[in-house]
Order: sequence, then structure tokens, then C-alpha cells
Amino acid sequence: MGYYKELEHYDRYIDLRYVPELSMIRRNEKEIIIGAAVTISRVIVFLKENDTGNSSSDGKQVFLKIANHMEKIASGFIRNSGSIGGNLVMAQRKHFPSDITTILIAVSSTVSIMTGHKHETLTLEEFLARPPIHTRSVLLSIQVPLLDRKINGNGGSGSKLAFETYRASPRPLGNALPYLNAAFLVNVSHANGVIVNDIRLVFGAYGTKHSIRARKVEDYLSGKRLSANVLYEAVKLVKGAVIPEFGTSYAAYRSSLAVSFLFQFLSPFVNFGSAICGGLSDELVGHLPKDSSTNCNEISTGQLVNSAVLSSAKQEVQSGREYYPVGEPTTKSGSAIQASGEAVYVDDIPSPPNCLHGAFIYSTKPLAHVRGVEIKSYTQLNGVAAVISYKDIPEGGENVGSKTIFGVEPLFADDLTRCAGEPIALVVAETQKSANIAANSAVINYDTENLDPPILTVEEAVKRSSFFEVPPFLYPEKVGDFSKGMAEADHKILCSEIKLGSQNHFYMETQTALAVPDEDNCMVVYSSIQVPEYAQIVIAKCLGLPQHNVRVITRRVGGGFGGKAIRAMPVATACALAAHKLRRPVRTYLNRKTDMIITGGRHPMKITYSVGFKSNGKVTALHLDILIDAGIGADISPVMPLNVLGSLKKYNWGALSFDIKVCKTNHSSKTAMRGPGEVQGSFIAETIVENVASILLMEVDSVRNINLHTFESLNVFYGGSAGEAPEYTLGEIWDKLGASSCMVQRIKTIEQFNQRNRWHKRGISRVPIVHQLIVRPTPGRVSILWDGSIVVEVGGIELGQGLWTKVKQMTAYALSSIGCDGTENLLEKVRVIQSDSLSLVQGGFTSGSTTSESSCEAVRLCCNILVERLGPLKSKLQEQMGAVNWNALILQAHFEAVNLAVNSYYVPDLNSMQYLNYGAAVSEVEIDILTGETKIMQSDIMYDCGQSMNPAVDLGQIEGAFVQGIGFFMLEEYLTDADGLTISDSTWTYKIPTIDTIPKQLNVEVWNSGHNKKRVLSSKASGEPPLLLAVSVHCATRAAIKEARKQLKSWSRIDGPDSAFQLDVPAIMPVVKNLCGLDIVERYLESLLTD
Ligand SMILES: Cc1cc2nc3c(=O)[nH]c(=O)nc-3n(C[C@H](O)[C@H](O)[C@H](O)COP(=O)(O)OP(=O)(O)OC[C@H]3O[C@@H](n4cnc5c(N)ncnc54)[C@H](O)[C@@H]3O)c2cc1C
Repeated sequence: MGYYKELEHYDRYIDLRYVPELSMIRRNEKEIIIGAAVTISRVIVFLKENDTGNSSSDGKQVFLKIANHMEKIASGFIRNSGSIGGNLVMAQRKHFPSDITTILIAVSSTVSIMTGHKHETLTLEEFLARPPIHTRSVLLSIQVPLLDRKINGNGGSGSKLAFETYRASPRPLGNALPYLNAAFLVNVSHANGVIVNDIRLVFGAYGTKHSIRARKVEDYLSGKRLSANVLYEAVKLVKGAVIPEFGTSYAAYRSSLAVSFLFQFLSPFVNFGSAICGGLSDELVGHLPKDSSTNCNEISTGQLVNSAVLSSAKQEVQSGREYYPVGEPTTKSGSAIQASGEAVYVDDIPSPPNCLHGAFIYSTKPLAHVRGVEIKSYTQLNGVAAVISYKDIPEGGENVGSKTIFGVEPLFADDLTRCAGEPIALVVAETQKSANIAANSAVINYDTENLDPPILTVEEAVKRSSFFEVPPFLYPEKVGDFSKGMAEADHKILCSEIKLGSQNHFYMETQTALAVPDEDNCMVVYSSIQVPEYAQIVIAKCLGLPQHNVRVITRRVGGGFGGKAIRAMPVATACALAAHKLRRPVRTYLNRKTDMIITGGRHPMKITYSVGFKSNGKVTALHLDILIDAGIGADISPVMPLNVLGSLKKYNWGALSFDIKVCKTNHSSKTAMRGPGEVQGSFIAETIVENVASILLMEVDSVRNINLHTFESLNVFYGGSAGEAPEYTLGEIWDKLGASSCMVQRIKTIEQFNQRNRWHKRGISRVPIVHQLIVRPTPGRVSILWDGSIVVEVGGIELGQGLWTKVKQMTAYALSSIGCDGTENLLEKVRVIQSDSLSLVQGGFTSGSTTSESSCEAVRLCCNILVERLGPLKSKLQEQMGAVNWNALILQAHFEAVNLAVNSYYVPDLNSMQYLNYGAAVSEVEIDILTGETKIMQSDIMYDCGQSMNPAVDLGQIEGAFVQGIGFFMLEEYLTDADGLTISDSTWTYKIPTIDTIPKQLNVEVWNSGHNKKRVLSSKASGEPPLLLAVSVHCATRAAIKEARKQLKSWSRIDGPDSAFQLDVPAIMPVVKNLCGLDIVERYLESLLTD
């Protein structure tokens, strides 16, 4: 189910669930017999029932634990349909990293198979060890023995069973394959300590063909009295037994997990002396390790099974009625139809007759001549209509697929492909599935003769001077004199390095478009795009048509985050080109893999910095050399230097100088991604501050505090954007958040926690943000119809950010100033409609968080004119009738030929188009230093929204952005192969945040900073800046790791401060564990043994 893509078409399918023998689950006095087609969910329910027939309570516990582990397999709907037999056969035949095989081997399960008329029963281990079973063999059932106290006939009265399962995975509650799973069953008795009668130790999913028993370790432990020494020898043996196959990622980490889990399992049985646990009580009942851990608060499995996933959340908003209904937390426009599935996204538009479907063929090489493309299954596939490439561009057209002010990029590679992921052609077929299969089977004939090697690193780009030009007006300005600042410094850090990777947009709706040829050489394109106007320009250029022949329509976008700005253009253009050539409608809805490969992502970068600072932590000078990997096309990359510096300047660095290069490499073009450059800038700033604090052995929070801007220094760093002194709210936010999050008290509690807990450490961190925003010109149109209902068009696109909701509120507010009856309910009369590039021109980009406010302002301009036009009529009617009702006024206005449609183009003043936003966050995390898992215990956010236009919408934006930031800093590993081809290309390999990886408690205050005179109704943007606040989670994790390292040093009896260390982004489990010490268990045991 899902993991192995089904690419073949079969004539017949047999649904095994209808074979009664395969679908039963029963027990006899010896075992439970589970038919192979029984779903995982049914097995879980059965195992949780009390009448499983186990003679001992230990046995019941074992089955409960198996069920609990199974609940972490995939997600509910997969467990409801995925069968236990399917799982085992996948593991047997294809080496799928199964959890089920591991846990079932531990309890000595057997399987029954049938080949022809031959029936066989063999152990699960034997089954897995066989060559892949033939497709004619059928797995009939799985037998799980009922457990008494014996495992292999050993153990008798007075002995106890202990069983535990483990899984270290990026998501504690499942829905992610584990780095390693394990299941241990032991039979122990108590005689002057704990004696192992028998033990089964099974490990799986760590880069092994199938789950294995660590027999050498089992043999070693059997018969032994458990002690620190025995444990030490056992963990050494485990390390030798659990060795991932060559090429497995994080091999050493996975081996270290095996050690951690064995240690977790057995250590409660060991008397380590008074320092820990107090040894083993006489009563062995309940000596399942998880239970015993609660006594000493020391050895816990770190699994979230018993704890609530989320505790609670606090949301504080201050809404104002000054501009009613602006300021109200009204329900998001369209949310009901979105929730019910009735909202029509591009792919929901029914296909017109004769419609074809497209799928991209893309390059897998970074720089190569393309000698030919062969579709292997072309002939078998009925329905492939054409393979569209640059050769199909009509006369007068150009090979152009996207455009920004910095240049254009080709739609398809011509004879030379310049990056892996570059589109080479579009296969067009009768169905999306046929198109996908055909594209997937394409064999591209490459040739690299006479070509230089590709540029795949920023260092290589520097060597070969491969850069994109940054226009001088976009290059940020230096501050002060760096040499002078350095001369004032008491301490210096020279040439420290930071590296940052990419992030995928991972919008829910992947890139999609539908192109429909229209009369007279026109083309209508429905596109999920943040910038329809530019798609229109590009399509017209590609087809060689005047722009008025191309209509691009966008109603709503299913998540954009910047990825549907430039990168949506080639998708729309390719469909238009195919439709133009074939004279048939053509649509595409990219599969996730293609989407992730061709759309680039966030800009990776390498930063080298030198910083000078005083002994009190005040920074006096900072110099940065930043190399930004822009990939092959300019896209929006030349704005990156400005964006990086915009958020980095949140601290007063004294003097600030830099050299920033935007490198042109043979990677896919990097593009805008929520907080592009700003999120990196904020991270760089925090890394520098952390480094300064660690050199000075100071609390990081005090170093942050001392370097926060005064309004004077803010002015020096940000010039006109800084606004007026009362608008600089960061200091107030900083203090208030410190108080409301009880930071001081929590620091103390955390100190105590860290002293008491050996295997879990906590950290807390508070970070500020300053985010520079730019408001851009935006059009709007408001029309009032005969019945008083209002229709609104704006340049901004509804991406889920609530733009339409705010626009509706603004329309109602601005029109209600006419002051007649019935305007209280105007909100219900407003409808915002789709963007149509031929209807409302100059729509521009929906980006940079400010399009909601600029669209609102455009609408306000329209409404003001309408009110002006209606004013005389209203006065006249009022005189005649005393009171005027909205509907009557509008009806009369229509009769009297008042022009009730107004078009506007809001162009912000030069001196107010830039402004700053402020916020701060405090995050507390707990790390499990045995596994590297990070739990976010609590995050408190305070964010300045000015006078929020809709606090509910802004709150959603703040929470969503913060969580997406957690993805960047903690979870989302964006990997490419040696050719630069993205290999984190699916939900299997790319882990966005889920319910179990977000803060257990999330408190948000939408801070109302009052009047911001130059802003739209005093409001401030919320879409992107809060993403930057997630760096607080990363910093808190670093603080927790610092504690772990301190402890590790004490075990080794090494005095003195810890060496500086850097926590990579994303701080995934292996990264955290690596910094805590992959050999932490061995080091701990050694420390006990040398005492
Ligand atoms: C998103 C996702 C996450 C997952 N995460 C995990 C995880 O963390 N841990 C884990 O262990 N599993 C995980 N799985 C795997 C999941 O448990 C299996 O996909 C599921 O159990 C397979 O069941 P199925 O009935 O769909 O198998 P199918 O897809 O129907 O079968 C798989 C293969 O086995 C063959 N087959 C099926 N039944 C028999 C039989 N009786 N005799 C002979 N051949 C047979 C089929 O022909 C096919 O080749 C995940 C799956 C998904 C989709």
C-alpha cells in the first residue's frame, strides 16, 4: 500500500479480504491465529481485548505493548486497510522496513504459507530469511503464541516476563518509518540480583534486509546476573550486531539507537548504586522497564504513548471596533466550502470535452546535452497523444517558461539541460495516470562531451565566478566602520562558518493548470498561481500571441508559500503550449515527486562571519561573507541579500559589513519560500549571538538583551523603515513576553529538571524578530449590483492567508461610511471573485505578506469613490424620506444611472511603503539524549499586528507560520543526490510537522500596538514574519544539548567549559543525538565502572 508504486496494469485483481480463511482472527489454547488479510487495525483491537487467552498478566501486557506499537504504524486510515499479511510479504519480498516483523519475531511468531497444494508452517525468521516468495505462494496466516513465563522452555515459577518495543522515528506517534525499531522479551528471576533466564532481542528497519535477532548478545546475556559490567559488555556486542548496510543514512546513529534501547530495557534491572533508581525491588511484578522508569524519573522510553499529545493553548487577541467590521475575528471567507470539499480549486474544474493530461519529463543530470528522449512504454500505452518539447514552440513564440524583473527562464531544456529537475518535455495523454506512467518510463539520452563539469557547490561557483548580478538599488547598505568596531572589541571570533539547506513549500495542492483553447487564437488558462499577470505575459510570449489573447484565471490557490509565484508559470505555460499545438484542452496536476523535484525551494547558503564583542556581550562589529545558492535561474534571487540583511539587523551589531554573492549553480532554480532570506538572516543572527555567549560563558538571553536596538540604533540600521519611536514595540514585547511566559521561574525549574534527569534535558530560549516589509502597488475594483450585493476584484490572490476575508471586511467598513440603514450587515453582501488577468490588469505578485493590506487599501479607495458618488443621492433621499435603507439607495442609484463600478490602483507613498514588524517567542524543549528526539514542551509567541484587521485570521497566520518554521529548523531534511537531483521527494522522505511534533502547549498573543498612522487602518502584516520565531525552538534545543554535553564531560571527569558546537538545521534526531554523544551509554557505564 503506497510504498511501492504500482506501475503495471493487471487484468484482474483479487481482493483477499473476501477469502474467509484469510480474514479470520481467532485463538486456541496455544496461540492467536491471524489471517493474512486481517487489517492492522483489527489486530490491534483483538490484542487489546482482555480475552486473548494469555495465562499470565505478563502475557497480556506483552500483547498490549504489541498493539501499542502497531498504533504507530502509518496512520489510522492505512491501518484500517493495510493487512498484516501484506506487510509481512512486503518485508519478505522487498525488504520493506517493517515494524510488524520486528515485534512478532520477538514473541516467536510463525507463519503458514501455501504454494500450490503444499502447506508449510515456519518461524517468521525463517520466512524472512528465504529468497523472495514466489507470486504463486500465498501467506495464509500468522500465529502468535500465547505467553506464559517461559520463552524457550526456560524460566519457571518466581520468574517474570518483561517485554518492550521501541521505535525511533521522526514522528513519535507514527506516520514515519523508523530509523530503527526493536522488540525485547526477557524472562528474569531474582536471586541476589536479577538473573536473565532467557532473552530475545530483535532489531529492524535500520538498513537491514529484514528484522534480525541479535543472537550473540542473547547468548551472552542468558544466564547472567545483570550488572553495569554485564550491560557494558552487552551494549558493545549490540553495536557489533546492529550494523546498517552500506549506504544507509545515519548508520552510526542507528547503531547507537540499538545500544540506547537495550540500555533502556535492561538498566531498570541493574543496581547501579544509590545514584540511580536504588536498584531492583524484591517484587518483580511490573518490571516492565517503562513502569519502573516512573520511580526514578530516569530511564524512560521517551515514547509518547501515555502522555497527551497536546496539552493546551492560549490565544489572546485584542479586537477593536473602531473600523467595524474590520478588526473583528470574523470567520474566514470560504472556510465552510473548503471544509466540505465544495470549494473549486483548479483540479476540481470538470475537464472540458476532449481534454488531455500532461506530465513532465525532467532532467536527472545537472549539465548535459540531451540527445534524445525515448518513452519506453509509449507503444503499450494507448492514449499518449504527444510529447511536447521546445521544438513545438510556434513560430513567433519563444522558449520561455517564467519571468521576473531579473530575467526569463526557458520552458523546456533545448539541446542542453542545465540542472537536474529541469523540464525537458511534457507527455500528453488521455488520462493523468497514462501521462504519469509514460513520463516515468522516459529514457533520456545524455551526453556530456565537451562540457565543463557542472557547478554544484557555492565554492565552485566562486572559483568560476558564476554569479547573478544584484542591481545596486537592491544591495543592502553597510553600517559604520567594521575595522573601528573590531578595534573596540575585547574578544573576537574569526571566520566561523554556518551552512543552511533548503526547504520545500509542501503546499497541499501541488502545481496545477488547465489550458483551454478559445476562439480567434485565444487561450484561457486556469492556474493555481500567485501571480496570474506574469503567467499571462509568459504564455503570450511563448505562443507568440498578443497578451490580450491570453486570459489567466485564478480563483484560489491551495497553499503557495512563494512556490506558486515564479515556479507556477512553466506549469501553466506548458499546458498552454500543448493546448495550442493540439487544439485541445490540456491540464496537469503534478504528482508530489515531480512537484518537489522541479520547483526548487528555499535558498541554501554558506555564511562565514567574524565578530568582535565586549566582555559584557555587546557586539561591536560584524562582518559576513554570504554565498547564496540560487541555482540555475535568477528567479527572485537577487533580492536575497536585502532580505537576509533585513532580518539579521534585528540586533545592534555596532558596525556591520558584508560581502554577499548570489551564486549561479547547476541546481534547480531556488525561489521564494515564506520568509525568503529573512528566515536565514534571523538564524544567522541567533547563531552569532549564541557563539558570543558561549565564548563569554554568559546566558544567551543576556547577550540578546544587551544587543537589542534602541530606537536610535534601529534608525541607523533601518533608516526610514524604522518609522517613529512609539512604533518600535520590540522592547515592550520582549519584557512582556518574558513575564507572561514566566521565563525566570521556568529557567529555575529547568535547572532542577536537568539536575534530576540524566537522560532527558531541557532548554529554554527567547528570541526577538524584526522583519522589514514592503507594500507594493495593487489594483482593486468594487461594483454594486441592483440588489445591493457587492462584487469585489483585487490584485491579491487568496492563498489560504485570509486575503478575501480582510478584503470583505474592508469593503463593508468603507461602504458603511455612507451612513444609511442596513450597512451593519454589509459584510454578508460582499463577494470577492476570482482574479482574471484580462478583467483586472496590473494584478502583480501576491507575496511578501503585504498583499492583503494593499488589496484592502485598493478596495478602500474604490469604496471611498462610491460613497462620494452615492452621497448626494443619499442626502436627497434622506430629505425626502427621513431614513434611507442601503438596498433602496442602491436601487435608486441604478435608476438614476450612478456609476456603481470603480476601479482603483493603490500605489503606496514612497516614504511609507516600507515598515518594520516585531515579535518575540519563548520556546522550551526537552530532548531525549538516548534517541535525539526533541519534544517542544511550550512556545509562547507575542506578535505585533498593529490593529489587526482580523485577529482570528492573523492568529492562524502566526500559528501556521511558526509551525512551518519548526519544519525548517527541526524536521524537514532536503536532500539531493550527487547530481543535485532532489531525493527528498515524497512524504516518505520529507517530514513536515504533524500534531506530535508541534509544541505541546502553544500560547499566542496577537499584540495590538495601537495606531500606526502610515499603515492601512493601523494594521500590520502577519503572513511570513512569525515563521522566523521558530528559531526559538532551535535555540532551546541547543541549550538542552549544552546540558547533555556538560553531563557527558562530567562523566569523563573533564573540567572546563564545553567546546563551542553548532547545531545544524534541521536539528533532526541524528543531529541532536550526535551532539549529545553517540556513545553516551558506553561513556556512562564506563564512568560507573571506573568509580
Ligand atoms: C504511509 C504509510 C506508512 C507506513 N508506515 C509503516 C510503518 O511505519 N511500519 C510498518 O511496518 N509498515 C508501514 N506501512 C506499511 C503498511 O503496514 C503496509 O503498507 C500494509 O501493511 C500493507 O498491507 P496491504 O494489505 O495494503 O498490502 P498490499 O499492498 O495489498 O500487499 C503488499 C504485497 O504483498 C502481496 N500480498 C499481500 N497479501 C498477500 C498474501 N496473503 N500472500 C501473498 N502475497 C500477499 C501483494 O500482492 C503485494 O505484492 C506504511 C504504509 C504506508 C502507506
